[in-house]
Amino acid sequence: MAAIDEVREYLAQLEVEGSVRTNVPPRVEAEYYNSIECAPRERIEELRDKHLRHIISWAYKYSPFYRKLWDEAGVKPGDIKGYGDLGKLPVWNKEQQRKDEAENSPFGSRAVKELIPYVPRIYRSTGTSGFPTMLLWIPEDLEVMAESRARWMYAAGFRAGGAYIGFATSARGQMAPEIIESSARKIGVVYYDEEVAGYLLDPEVSATFQIKLGEVYEPLCAFSTPEFLMALGRQFEKMGKEPPFDVILPGGMPLSSRLRQELRSLYKKPKGFPNLIGSIEGGVDFECPFSAQKGLNYLHESEDLYVYEVVKPGTGEKAAEGERGELVVTVFYNHVLPLVRFSTEDVFENLSTTEPCECGRTSLRWLRPCPGRLKDVFKVRSKELMPWDVELVIGEIPDTTLMYQIFLDGWDMDKLKVKIETSRELPNPEYEREAKAILESELGVPVEATWVPEGALPPPPGGYKSVKVVDKRPKRA
Ligand SMILES: [Zn+2]
Repeated sequence: MAAIDEVREYLAQLEVEGSVRTNVPPRVEAEYYNSIECAPRERIEELRDKHLRHIISWAYKYSPFYRKLWDEAGVKPGDIKGYGDLGKLPVWNKEQQRKDEAENSPFGSRAVKELIPYVPRIYRSTGTSGFPTMLLWIPEDLEVMAESRARWMYAAGFRAGGAYIGFATSARGQMAPEIIESSARKIGVVYYDEEVAGYLLDPEVSATFQIKLGEVYEPLCAFSTPEFLMALGRQFEKMGKEPPFDVILPGGMPLSSRLRQELRSLYKKPKGFPNLIGSIEGGVDFECPFSAQKGLNYLHESEDLYVYEVVKPGTGEKAAEGERGELVVTVFYNHVLPLVRFSTEDVFENLSTTEPCECGRTSLRWLRPCPGRLKDVFKVRSKELMPWDVELVIGEIPDTTLMYQIFLDGWDMDKLKVKIETSRELPNPEYEREAKAILESELGVPVEATWVPEGALPPPPGGYKSVKVVDKRPKRA
């Protein structure tokens, strides 16, 4: 059978088994996008292991990169019967991907060359952490990706008859807008593309147009970084208008209770602000309505489509329960550039449960997802910390704006140096003294805090994500 026919057969099987919903859009009163989200655990695990075996045998058969990687590690596809065996396979990362793509230009030896003629459009990574890497997809695989996104969007409150306003850019090979558009279509939600750049060109005109759409469509939905959503909310505030959004989706990092409060003060209509953590290559773990309303940061995983694991950084070994480690992803539905035990270079806390959630979903739930990039882990007096740890404490200090910058100048520093914005009058020795005491007692390390007035820290480049870590650490030998 030709490779493309194998993929088509796989997609057809996912549709028959129910992992990809076909009768769309769901009726608006349906509580879940796909009933498989509430399937008995045995069923979910059966599908997970079956799809895992499928992608591993596919990768070994068609991708020279994996054949070499696994042969060198002395593992054969047949050694992996299910999720519990994943630890036998090596974890690999973006640096290896870059090297492979440079040596086997342009797509790398990971690419399944039999499928290249079926790739209709080329995407690439943002390149924020180095030279951009390839993202190659065929429409059959994108169907499955759209299913995984549709589960998230539906859980968040997207329903037929609504509209979505997109702020992400599709320029420079970015893939997110197209995926969100096709997922929105599955739910019956109309898509309008504004982009951050379009908004910034004239925020007032943009906001007024958003209000107009809100008069016609319900629910009106948007997704972006918390920082952009706050800036957008303040624009409506400035105009004396109520933001028209019924569903507001922040994403990309955990939400502190303070951040949720700030969003709540700007957006009155949404029931909660369900969070999401994921990557464009992989799956998206999403917060259910129950968790969002309680601010719990539980993240549900669609284990029939992809799996995450937390490993000890730099090894393939699973992290102990409750330990922080490196987040590794295996995706069951990319046949062009298979992704098996790929490091996302994010840090996660290895704490999850498969007990049914109050929302009714039976999928695995991460209970304390954490906070940011592996490269942002830093040490103060031998104590490992992350920007997220600092952000949580900053959120407890009255009148901070949640804008801050951490300065790293050594691999094990004597004290934490941080610049923090506040809306208080400055200088304010008493306030600064109290805040420093809170930071030091909560973080357990000495802190040198510099206070700056609201608006003093640089705004997010392109209006999207601000620079929270200024890393001046010497290169490691
Ligand atoms: Zn739930």
